[in-house]
Amino acid sequence: MAYEYDDQNIFAKILRGDIPNDTVLETDHSLAFNDIAPQAPVHVLVIPRGPYITWDQFSAEASDAEIIDYTRTIQQVIDKLDLAPGAGGQGYRLIVNSGEAAIQEVPHLHTHILSGRRLGRMLP
Ligand code: C5P
Repeated sequence: MAYEYDDQNIFAKILRGDIPNDTVLETDHSLAFNDIAPQAPVHVLVIPRGPYITWDQFSAEASDAEIIDYTRTIQQVIDKLDLAPGAGGQGYRLIVNSGEAAIQEVPHLHTHILSGRRLGRMLP
């Protein structure tokens, strides 16, 4: 399936600076910001700056530098907010909704980082 990126999506507007965001941290290839409607005390979204819609598209088409930067940015958020269980944090959950069946609302790749409360089971 060919992907067609909609540059009017809300995260594209955030990346262009057309609408504000509550930035947690930013790098050359990625941006992390607090979700506007948090589902937990910690709810950060991490997005690549490039025009990728889903995880599979990003994995297949992004450069090594973008993929490494994205992975490390997620880790930097985990470190910055002291979430890592191995370092005394309470743990966290990563979620990437990709496509219709996963109810992806914004068509720009984003990883949710959730923490700050007991999250409950995700799978039935
Ligand atoms: O994975 P999904 O596409 O459903 O998640 C989109 C997320 O983007 C939601 O958690 C929503 O609250 C967030 N959002 C945001 N800022 C906006 C629009 C949506 O943080 N302006």
